[in-house]
Amino acid sequence: MRYEGVLTKMRTEITDKVQYYLIFEDDFINMNQLLGKTLSINFLRYQCLNCGLQKKIFRQGYCYDCFNSIPQAGDWVISPELSKAHLDEEDRDLEFEKRAQLQPHVVYLANSSDVKVGVTRRSQIPTRWIDQGAHEAIEIVEVPNRYLAGITEVALKSHVSDKTNWRKMLTNDVLDLDLAEIRENLKQYIPEEAREYYLANNKETEIEFPVLEFPKKIKTLNLGKTPFYEGVLKGIKGQYLLFEDGTVFNVRGHEGFVIELQVK
Ligand SMILES: [Zn+2]
Repeated sequence: MRYEGVLTKMRTEITDKVQYYLIFEDDFINMNQLLGKTLSINFLRYQCLNCGLQKKIFRQGYCYDCFNSIPQAGDWVISPELSKAHLDEEDRDLEFEKRAQLQPHVVYLANSSDVKVGVTRRSQIPTRWIDQGAHEAIEIVEVPNRYLAGITEVALKSHVSDKTNWRKMLTNDVLDLDLAEIRENLKQYIPEEAREYYLANNKETEIEFPVLEFPKKIKTLNLGKTPFYEGVLKGIKGQYLLFEDGTVFNVRGHEGFVIELQVK
């Protein structure tokens, strides 16, 4: 089988294990069905996810010019505490920012390697946790806008990590922890403005990824440097494809890359 298309992050759904889908213009590929098969990935060209032009991808699937101008790549996306729509202040496009920021957001704990704190729109749960490769996660607060979530995250960051050690995540060097207990210990550091939104009763969500065998040592595939790769798919975790020889491929990290995918 041969497929061709521009990479965007894999879509997911939770059944007993996470189901992953790669979506191309003309094809919809259930990646779980490719486990155990030999795949080849051939990088053909760039295609910016915003302007569609064949320009080098800078970040998040966008070319340099788009990344620096479109509202969906504003600084508040990565740093939610910089959100200003609740003050009626524009960053790049106030209408867009209002739609994105003035909706329920959740600050959560996710355990993908170590426990980290993060922010997402409520509608992105559990998608966000799956994308991070978290095997367990729990909500801390649910607040009415992105700004409140951002300042809560900033306050909690000094007491718990906000980074994932993706090597540990991909080799499954992980522990099961009692996230409800960690949440309870962090409660005292939630800023005043967000304290009324504390969620004391939500239970941990457990996530199981489709992995036949975890790699012991990993090497990352960067299509910008190595435009062709072939290997046997052994698992999928987060947004990574895990191959038999220890190669790991971050699909999300290659958004905007047009590839040819062959299944042998
Ligand atoms: Zn562009």
